Amino acid sequence: MTGASGVGKDTIWQAALPGIPNLSYAVSATTRAQRPGEINGRHYYFYQREAFQQLIAEEALVEFAEYAGDYYGTPRQQLEAMLTSGRDALVKPELIGAREIKRRLPEAVMIFIAPPSMAELERRLKGRGTDSPARIAQRLARAREEIAAVREFEYVIVNDVLETAVRDFCSIIYAERVRSKRLTATDIARFLRET
Ligand code: 5GP
Repeated sequence: MTGASGVGKDTIWQAALPGIPNLSYAVSATTRAQRPGEINGRHYYFYQREAFQQLIAEEALVEFAEYAGDYYGTPRQQLEAMLTSGRDALVKPELIGAREIKRRLPEAVMIFIAPPSMAELERRLKGRGTDSPARIAQRLARAREEIAAVREFEYVIVNDVLETAVRDFCSIIYAERVRSKRLTATDIARFLRET
């Protein structure tokens, strides 16, 4: 799930996940300052820069990128544990990380969350009251770059009315799970059983 800072990605997944079995959120690592209300280990794993660089050196991240002066990355161990136990994993990288995940895991499904307009995105970022004007400007510039790449994504959800966005998100997950390309040889053998 990719989309501008402030577009509502967390609100969407937090509303959708309780209703979708076998889907877990893979918590990202970041060097960004913790915002009020954010819980270490639930919203992000918060790291100092040196500790994050250590994660990079140890290849403990599936991907990482710099965004508005901070590092963000997907911890490898957690993601692998989810996938090997047969669960689907939801990750929330910006564009560079999303491309890297798709390159490494081609079966990944890329969902873009678009704002209803740049004006609305700016209003939400300002309303959040957590970022300086300079950081808001950086986030809006990145949002424009990401929107320019929207056709790289398989699905696009406009987060205008939250319930509609959550419904769209759930529909994508359920539809993806019944794609014929996800059938294994065992599944097909089971369909053919006569007893
Ligand atoms: P924020 O500071 O608003 O929480 O996040 C800033 C940006 O970093 C957002 O676009 C968000 O999607 C992205 N981001 C969050 N987690 C990760 C991650 O694990 N990897 C990458 N590459 N980007 C992430």
